Amino acid sequence: MKDELHAQAQRFIDAAQVEGLNAGDQAWLKSHLDACGECRIYAESLERTVAALRSFQTPVDPALVEATRRRLYVRARELREHESRMRALWMACSLSWVLGVLTAPLLWWGLEWIGQHVGAPRTIWITALVLWWLTPAVVVGAVLAWQRSGGLRENGQRATLPR
Ligand SMILES: [Zn+2]
Repeated sequence: MKDELHAQAQRFIDAAQVEGLNAGDQAWLKSHLDACGECRIYAESLERTVAALRSFQTPVDPALVEATRRRLYVRARELREHESRMRALWMACSLSWVLGVLTAPLLWWGLEWIGQHVGAPRTIWITALVLWWLTPAVVVGAVLAWQRSGGLRENGQRATLPR
Protein backbone atom coordinates (compact mmCIF):
# COMPACT_ATOMS: atom_id res chain seq x y z
CA MET A 1 0.00 0.00 0.00
CA LYS A 2 2.86 2.35 0.93
CA ASP A 3 4.66 1.50 -2.31
CA GLU A 4 1.51 2.31 -4.28
CA LEU A 5 1.36 5.75 -2.65
CA HIS A 6 4.98 6.46 -3.60
CA ALA A 7 4.42 5.17 -7.13
CA GLN A 8 1.32 7.38 -7.45
CA ALA A 9 3.28 10.37 -6.13
CA GLN A 10 6.06 9.77 -8.66
CA ARG A 11 3.51 9.47 -11.49
CA PHE A 12 2.05 12.83 -10.38
CA ILE A 13 5.55 14.33 -10.19
CA ASP A 14 6.25 13.20 -13.76
CA ALA A 15 2.86 14.40 -15.00
CA ALA A 16 3.32 17.78 -13.32
CA GLN A 17 6.42 18.35 -15.46
CA VAL A 18 4.65 17.42 -18.69
CA GLU A 19 0.95 18.22 -18.74
CA GLY A 20 0.36 19.65 -15.26
CA LEU A 21 -1.99 18.44 -12.54
CA ASN A 22 -5.49 19.39 -11.53
CA ALA A 23 -5.92 21.16 -8.20
CA GLY A 24 -6.95 18.02 -6.30
CA ASP A 25 -3.96 15.97 -7.49
CA GLN A 26 -1.66 18.92 -6.85
CA ALA A 27 -2.90 19.19 -3.24
CA TRP A 28 -2.53 15.43 -2.73
CA LEU A 29 1.01 15.53 -4.12
CA LYS A 30 1.98 18.50 -1.95
CA SER A 31 0.79 16.79 1.23
CA HIS A 32 2.62 13.59 0.22
CA LEU A 33 5.84 15.49 -0.50
CA ASP A 34 5.60 17.27 2.85
CA ALA A 35 5.59 13.89 4.58
CA CYS A 36 7.81 11.77 2.27
CA GLY A 37 11.50 12.59 1.93
CA GLU A 38 12.14 9.96 -0.74
CA CYS A 39 9.53 11.37 -3.12
CA ARG A 40 10.59 14.96 -2.31
CA ILE A 41 14.18 14.08 -3.34
CA TYR A 42 12.80 12.49 -6.54
CA ALA A 43 10.74 15.61 -7.29
CA GLU A 44 13.66 17.99 -6.67
CA SER A 45 15.99 15.86 -8.75
CA LEU A 46 13.52 15.72 -11.64
CA GLU A 47 12.95 19.47 -11.43
CA ARG A 48 16.71 20.14 -11.59
CA THR A 49 17.09 17.77 -14.53
CA VAL A 50 14.23 19.40 -16.47
CA ALA A 51 15.62 22.88 -15.70
CA ALA A 52 19.05 21.79 -16.93
CA LEU A 53 17.55 20.37 -20.12
CA ARG A 54 15.58 23.57 -20.73
CA SER A 55 18.70 25.72 -20.32
CA PHE A 56 20.71 23.49 -22.64
CA GLN A 57 21.29 25.22 -25.96
CA THR A 58 22.54 23.59 -29.07
CA PRO A 59 23.68 25.41 -32.19
CA VAL A 60 21.22 24.82 -35.03
CA ASP A 61 22.14 24.93 -38.67
CA PRO A 62 20.40 28.02 -40.16
CA ALA A 63 19.75 26.02 -43.33
CA LEU A 64 17.82 23.47 -41.27
CA VAL A 65 15.78 26.25 -39.65
CA GLU A 66 15.04 27.72 -43.08
CA ALA A 67 14.09 24.33 -44.55
CA THR A 68 11.78 23.65 -41.59
CA ARG A 69 10.20 27.10 -41.94
CA ARG A 70 9.58 26.49 -45.66
CA ARG A 71 8.10 23.05 -45.02
CA LEU A 72 5.75 24.50 -42.43
CA TYR A 73 4.75 27.23 -44.88
CA VAL A 74 4.04 24.68 -47.63
CA ARG A 75 2.10 22.44 -45.22
CA ALA A 76 -0.02 25.37 -43.99
CA ARG A 77 -0.77 26.30 -47.60
CA GLU A 78 -1.71 22.69 -48.40
CA LEU A 79 -4.09 22.60 -45.45
CA ARG A 80 -5.74 25.89 -46.52
CA GLU A 81 -6.11 24.63 -50.11
CA HIS A 82 -7.51 21.31 -48.89
CA GLU A 83 -10.03 23.15 -46.72
CA SER A 84 -11.22 25.34 -49.59
CA ARG A 85 -11.45 22.31 -51.91
CA MET A 86 -13.52 20.45 -49.32
CA ARG A 87 -15.79 23.48 -48.90
CA ALA A 88 -16.32 23.60 -52.68
CA LEU A 89 -16.97 19.85 -52.71
CA TRP A 90 -19.61 20.11 -49.97
CA MET A 91 -21.27 23.05 -51.71
CA ALA A 92 -21.36 21.05 -54.96
CA CYS A 93 -22.82 18.08 -53.07
CA SER A 94 -25.50 20.23 -51.48
CA LEU A 95 -26.41 21.80 -54.81
CA SER A 96 -26.46 18.38 -56.46
CA TRP A 97 -28.73 17.01 -53.74
CA VAL A 98 -31.15 19.94 -53.97
CA LEU A 99 -31.25 19.72 -57.76
CA GLY A 100 -31.68 15.95 -57.50
CA VAL A 101 -34.73 16.38 -55.26
CA LEU A 102 -36.20 19.14 -57.43
CA THR A 103 -35.73 17.25 -60.70
CA ALA A 104 -36.75 13.81 -59.39
CA PRO A 105 -40.39 14.07 -60.63
CA LEU A 106 -39.25 15.23 -64.09
CA LEU A 107 -36.68 12.44 -64.26
CA TRP A 108 -39.30 9.92 -63.13
CA TRP A 109 -41.74 11.01 -65.85
CA GLY A 110 -39.02 11.23 -68.48
CA LEU A 111 -37.64 7.77 -67.77
CA GLU A 112 -41.16 6.33 -67.54
CA TRP A 113 -42.05 7.90 -70.91
CA ILE A 114 -38.86 6.58 -72.54
CA GLY A 115 -39.41 3.17 -70.97
CA GLN A 116 -42.97 2.99 -72.35
CA HIS A 117 -41.96 4.15 -75.85
CA VAL A 118 -39.01 1.80 -76.04
CA GLY A 119 -41.01 -1.00 -74.47
CA ALA A 120 -38.47 -1.54 -71.69
CA PRO A 121 -39.67 -3.31 -68.54
CA ARG A 122 -40.48 -1.10 -65.56
CA THR A 123 -37.51 -2.47 -63.54
CA ILE A 124 -35.03 -1.17 -66.14
CA TRP A 125 -36.09 2.47 -66.03
CA ILE A 126 -36.45 2.37 -62.23
CA THR A 127 -32.90 0.98 -62.06
CA ALA A 128 -31.76 3.81 -64.34
CA LEU A 129 -33.41 6.30 -61.97
CA VAL A 130 -31.64 4.78 -58.94
CA LEU A 131 -28.29 4.82 -60.75
CA TRP A 132 -28.86 8.43 -61.73
CA TRP A 133 -29.45 9.24 -58.05
CA LEU A 134 -26.39 7.31 -56.88
CA THR A 135 -23.99 8.92 -59.37
CA PRO A 136 -23.20 12.08 -57.31
CA ALA A 137 -22.56 10.03 -54.15
CA VAL A 138 -20.29 7.65 -56.07
CA VAL A 139 -18.35 10.58 -57.58
CA VAL A 140 -17.92 12.24 -54.16
CA GLY A 141 -16.86 8.92 -52.63
CA ALA A 142 -14.29 8.46 -55.39
CA VAL A 143 -12.92 11.99 -54.87
CA LEU A 144 -12.65 11.48 -51.10
CA ALA A 145 -10.97 8.08 -51.57
CA TRP A 146 -8.53 9.67 -54.02
CA GLN A 147 -7.68 12.42 -51.52
CA ARG A 148 -7.21 9.93 -48.67
CA SER A 149 -4.93 7.79 -50.78
CA GLY A 150 -2.54 10.73 -51.09
CA GLY A 151 -3.70 12.26 -54.34
CA LEU A 152 -1.90 15.51 -53.42
CA ARG A 153 1.45 13.76 -53.17
CA GLU A 154 1.02 12.13 -56.56
CA ASN A 155 0.63 15.59 -58.10
CA GLY A 156 3.97 16.56 -56.61
CA GLN A 157 2.52 19.50 -54.66
CA ARG A 158 4.20 18.42 -51.44
CA ALA A 159 7.61 18.11 -52.96
CA THR A 160 7.85 21.70 -54.18
CA LEU A 161 9.14 24.30 -51.75
CA PRO A 162 9.11 28.07 -52.27
CA ARG A 163 12.53 29.61 -52.85
ZN1 LIG B 1 6.60 8.96 -1.27
